[in-house]
Amino acid sequence: MRTMDQIYVNGEFIKPQGTDTQLLINPTTREVIGQVVLGNEEDARMAIAAAKKAFITFSQTTVEERSEILQRLHDAVLANIDDMAEANINEYGAPKRSAIGRVKLAAANFLDTKQALDNFEFVRYIASAKVVSEPVGVVGIITPWNASYSQITAKLAAAIAAGCTVVIKPSELSALQTEQITQAFHNAGLPKGVINIVNGYGHTVGAEFTRNPDVALISFTGSTRVGKEILKSGAETMKRVTLELGGKSPNIILDDADFTSVIPVAVAQGFTNNGQACVAGTRIIVPEHRLGEVKQLAKSAIEAIKVGNPWDEDTVLGPIVTEKQYLNVQRYIQSGIDEGAELVTGGLGHPAGAENGNFVKPTLFVNVTEDMTIAKEEIFGPVLVVLTYKTVEEAIAIANNTNYGLGAYVHAADLDQANWVASKIAAGVVLINGAGFEMKAPFGGYKQSGIGREYGEYGIEECLETKTITGYAVK
Ligand code: NAD
Repeated sequence: MRTMDQIYVNGEFIKPQGTDTQLLINPTTREVIGQVVLGNEEDARMAIAAAKKAFITFSQTTVEERSEILQRLHDAVLANIDDMAEANINEYGAPKRSAIGRVKLAAANFLDTKQALDNFEFVRYIASAKVVSEPVGVVGIITPWNASYSQITAKLAAAIAAGCTVVIKPSELSALQTEQITQAFHNAGLPKGVINIVNGYGHTVGAEFTRNPDVALISFTGSTRVGKEILKSGAETMKRVTLELGGKSPNIILDDADFTSVIPVAVAQGFTNNGQACVAGTRIIVPEHRLGEVKQLAKSAIEAIKVGNPWDEDTVLGPIVTEKQYLNVQRYIQSGIDEGAELVTGGLGHPAGAENGNFVKPTLFVNVTEDMTIAKEEIFGPVLVVLTYKTVEEAIAIANNTNYGLGAYVHAADLDQANWVASKIAAGVVLINGAGFEMKAPFGGYKQSGIGREYGEYGIEECLETKTITGYAVK
């Protein structure tokens, strides 16, 4: 069994002082594939001290120097694409074709941010004042298991662009992927202490980041529950926070849409990333009088999806990350049945032939009401619910009837109508008619889906403080 027993501090791979271990289990086979020795609070403090020291010089670097570093990070990640994708498939269960895409996306974050940096105005003049943007300090980056590479690089790229140094705590469930990305960052040859990475639990290493006075900003992606804990614990030292949290994104299908082509797209938008995506469009909202048609189209789209070994080229849905998470999804399916929703396809248990891994049957419920648990809570698995409306206003009200506000999807033939609906939805990102995400534009949530925005110049802004100077030109 492979043991990962190194953390990355001050440009060196060292053994952590922590002694807790976490087993790494392949979700496809449920075989143990390794273990990670986790760092503790002391390791976190050592990493923060290294980042604090490195900040003294790194904060003084020029835009050109940092732009060149972003290029090097991009190149180093791409150079490691095969090993990174392999770790993503074996540890997380990402289907092969999406695993490659995910590493490319992680690398592209550096180039997108480089472009934003090259055009960024660090000094502006407003009336009699000179307004200067300065790096905020050490950034504590805490990430989840469902998109480890891209979450780390989006946050790291913004911090580097701003002139900040970082301490990173990836998910304890992503240690194989952490090992690969750490090696890539090391290969990029940054000054010592600019990037520090500590494996560890949230309540130890993560908690130390959030309370340590030498961390200026916490850039967190994860659940809304933990986001709230971070907000509370960071309040003591008045931390800046960027929080990218959960979602229960609506997908409104307007009556004039071409249902034959749109429903399969809506299904795919709900099942993205094995159903474990913060932005998954898991609430499909359709005209009441077309429910029969929707049921039929969605059922056949779902039943055509290949669930299985993520190494197979044609696999669309891999397993759920852990058995615990698998059981969680099962509980949600059971609650849908218990609360009276109509199960159209999928349901409890494993798909036939996939009994050994954490595979969930892609599941569709209709006749769902807004008060049902499956309509309200983030399930984080391939489970979709269909809600119905009589008027467009009602569709919008249903879409907004949630504590979340991360993503939203609208499908319509009339683009003006689609844009009007988009303007009424309380969500940070709205995708119309199957359009993709724009990774150079801001990403983040309304309401309990988060605070702040990432990517491009908005991401850089999060890592900066603003200083207004008057009298600067007076002799
Ligand atoms: P999680 O909140 O359980 O954990 C996220 C990270 O926080 C992990 O590294 C964990 O160790 C750490 N953590 C846990 N407790 C902590 C504490 N008290 N202090 C500091 N750190 C702590 O989330 P998860 O289960 O790993 O990921 C799934 C969640 O992430 C979902 O809710 C999903 O919607 C969300 N997510 C959001 C986005 C987004 O951009 N909005 C993207 C991906 C995932």
